[in-house]
Amino acid sequence: MIVVMKQEATPQEVERMVERIESLGLKAHVIVGAERTVIAAIGDDRKTHKESLESGQGVAEVVPILAPYKVASREVKREPTQVKAGSLTVGNGTIGVIAGPCSVETEEQILSSAKAVKAAGATALRGGAFKPRTSPYSFQGLKEDGLKMLATAREATGLAVVTEVVASEDVDLVARYADVLQVGARNMQNYRLLEAVGGTDRAVLLKRGPSATLEELLLAAEYILNAGNPNVMLCERGIRTFEAHTRFTLPLATVVYLHAKTHLPVVVDPSHGTGHTYLVPQMAAASVAAGADGLIMEVHPDPANALSDGYQSMTFKQFDETMELCRKVATALGKKL
Ligand code: PEP
Ligand code: MN
Repeated sequence: MIVVMKQEATPQEVERMVERIESLGLKAHVIVGAERTVIAAIGDDRKTHKESLESGQGVAEVVPILAPYKVASREVKREPTQVKAGSLTVGNGTIGVIAGPCSVETEEQILSSAKAVKAAGATALRGGAFKPRTSPYSFQGLKEDGLKMLATAREATGLAVVTEVVASEDVDLVARYADVLQVGARNMQNYRLLEAVGGTDRAVLLKRGPSATLEELLLAAEYILNAGNPNVMLCERGIRTFEAHTRFTLPLATVVYLHAKTHLPVVVDPSHGTGHTYLVPQMAAASVAAGADGLIMEVHPDPANALSDGYQSMTFKQFDETMELCRKVATALGKKL
């Protein structure tokens, strides 16, 4: 249920309503909008007494939330959510650009990448220290040593650090170094991990599972929001289809669809979405044209010798050109990039 408060409702009336919702055994999420405050009453709906809530002081109306995801829904919050984490701002007219190598390999590699992507206009640095690899024999990441190198790169450039956490037991460690916790495609439905990142004060980049529906993605985001973390970015990174000319199939209608259904910002990953460097620049620009609030792209000082995902990584020069292209599209749309 959504309890819509009157425009003139006082903070005390909102507080009293929260207590009333909680006394019914429901969770109350207060969303303060530009025009009105709404309180999402989340829980087993059968227990909800619409009339009892409606009679509360300062209440304008009580309406059911039709979507299966609740706090993530546009029904609850009409204004787009802007997520901020250090140097990174994503959403509500500002396009954030997260760039860097797939994996952190050496201090020199991550530092040179950070400096290059910053010079080209990126607003955050990516780099995996814990890598979820398909094969157990592939490079698994430098773990805490890699996190330390990311922190060094942040110190040198001021760029916020976006890095993946693959297990609930690593969340505290990764959160000590990261500005944004990335939950990877393979973990989109790891509900204990979603709850764990939901319990931190770090922003979260939630990637779509390659075979997950958008409803499943939104319900995964709901786990994080419901655990008390409002700073969630959704990421389209391509899905598995019968098509084999690309590593995954990158559906850009996702951006438009998600904007209709949720207030959360939408980021696109054209690197994993295509799996080929030469396809990335135009798909990045197309993502911006579709209304993406952010981009995450793989950039490496020497893609041919990268320890992971070199075939889809851009050189510094290619990234610079991609940023130029994306900036033209953003400018045409009246957005900042
Ligand atoms: C990555 O960002 O390097 C990664 C592993 O992405 P995904 O989870 O989308 O495969
Ligand atoms: Mn990768």
